[in-house]
Amino acid sequence: MWYGLRKEIVYIPLGSTWRIQLYREELIKASSIYEVGVRIINLSLPIKERAYNPRRRQFNALTLLNQICELKFETDHALRIGVTAADIYIPRMNFIFGIADNSKGCAILSVARLTYAQYDVSSELLKERVLKTASHELGHLFGLNHCADPDCLMSFSNSTIEVDRKKPTICDRCRLLLELDQQK
Ligand SMILES: [Zn+2]
Ligand SMILES: [Zn+2]
Repeated sequence: MWYGLRKEIVYIPLGSTWRIQLYREELIKASSIYEVGVRIINLSLPIKERAYNPRRRQFNALTLLNQICELKFETDHALRIGVTAADIYIPRMNFIFGIADNSKGCAILSVARLTYAQYDVSSELLKERVLKTASHELGHLFGLNHCADPDCLMSFSNSTIEVDRKKPTICDRCRLLLELDQQK
């Protein structure tokens, strides 16, 4: 019960929500490693127009991240994750699954590339990808950096192959780091 007293996680849908609704359970489950309270806001926040890059036909993740970080909340101790079905990028990368700002306690998660349906992929696998990636971004919010162990949830992924390869849990080293962080 190390993290239970510290924070609450709030998911904030950004833009169209129907694809996000399909993964509600996974988003909730993603918090179980960290043993914190979690909720999904029922409303969705419109995406700022300037986040869209017409040349790339994608949304700038940094603009979305700012949008979430700047929100004023009644519970400002809450960790916030903006969750979107928009395809997001940061400069010099084709796309990203998510991004987190640990110092501000906010993150963005995109289900766009994780849940892109292919004929040979089951809906269970798509759900597992969302679960792992949400849990990964939460790990960043709880102070974890990328891990060199490719099985670990905190290893960096830039393809669904890498996401599928990881386990849905953190390695012993990352778990220890979480515990140490909690004792600070
Ligand atoms: Zn990461
Ligand atoms: Zn690890």
